[in-house]
Formats: sequence, structure tokens, C-alpha cells
Amino acid sequence: MSEVNADNIFEKIISGEVPSYKIYEDDNVFAFLDINPISIGHTLVIPKIKSRNMLDVSEDVFSKVMEAVRVLAPKIKEAVEADGINIHINNEESAGQKVFHLHAHIIPQYDGKIIKFMRDPVQLEPERFKEIETKIKSHI
Ligand code: 5GP
Repeated sequence: MSEVNADNIFEKIISGEVPSYKIYEDDNVFAFLDINPISIGHTLVIPKIKSRNMLDVSEDVFSKVMEAVRVLAPKIKEAVEADGINIHINNEESAGQKVFHLHAHIIPQYDGKIIKFMRDPVQLEPERFKEIETKIKSHI
């Protein structure tokens, strides 16, 4: 687990040093509106304990974040009258992570103005699929 970094903006939000539109807090997690929302109700759920992202977080901390997401997502969907919800977690810079404190994005989706995240698929031959399958399974 990463060391606490007092300069991390999300730690300042947890401590109250930086204000936020907090929607939920308990002993383990903190949930607040994203300051640059990509849809109405865009919420971030973070652990109070610092972890860089889900690649370095403990099972216990990650479970608590995911449990909060499970509880909050349908309530947010209902509150903002959304039609669907995406859950996103960006891990490392190449995956779009900008704030290095684990956070799950809860992103409401609205029929008629759906935000598309998927790009064109990579084209692979069956042999390449097999190679990748074998490589990943050897790490599990
Ligand atoms: P990432 O790209 O790291 O997955 O997402 C970081 C998110 O944090 C972005 O969506 C960004 O808008 C949000 N964010 C960055 N700084 C602040 C802040 O000071 N307050 C709030 N509420 N959200 C922030």
C-alpha cells in the first residue's frame, strides 16, 4: 500500500481541507461529486486509507470501496433519474489515471445522450488469442 501523501488532492478532500460535494461517508470510504462531471451525478468513491490504485490496494480496502459502489450506484441512478450506470476505475497514467489515490467513478448514463467509452476492437487471429490466454493464465 502506498504511503500517505499529504499533497494528494483526495486526501485533502477526505480531511475537509479541500471542500467537496460529499454524498456519503463512513469509517472506511468517502463519496463525492466529481468536480468535472461527464454526466449529471458523476460520483467518485474513495477509500479513506491511501492506496495508489486498485493494483496496489489490499483486498479489504478494495472490498469496502466496491461495497460502497454497490450500495450507492442504484441510489444515485434513482436520485438523478438516470437510465444506466457505468463503473470505471483508471489504474496508472496509461489508463487515464490522473489522481493517484484509488477511486471508482460512478457515471450515470442517460438514454439519448449516452457517453461511449469503447473504441474499435483490436483484430486478433485465434493463435494470438491462444498465446495471450496462455500468458495470462501463467500469471494467475
Ligand atoms: P482519473 O482520471 O484519475 O480516474 O480521475 C480523476 C477525477 O478526479 C477526474 O474525473 C477529476 O475531474 C476529479 N477531480 C480532480 N480533482 C478534483 C477535485 O479537487 N475535486 C473533485 N470533486 N474532483 C476532482
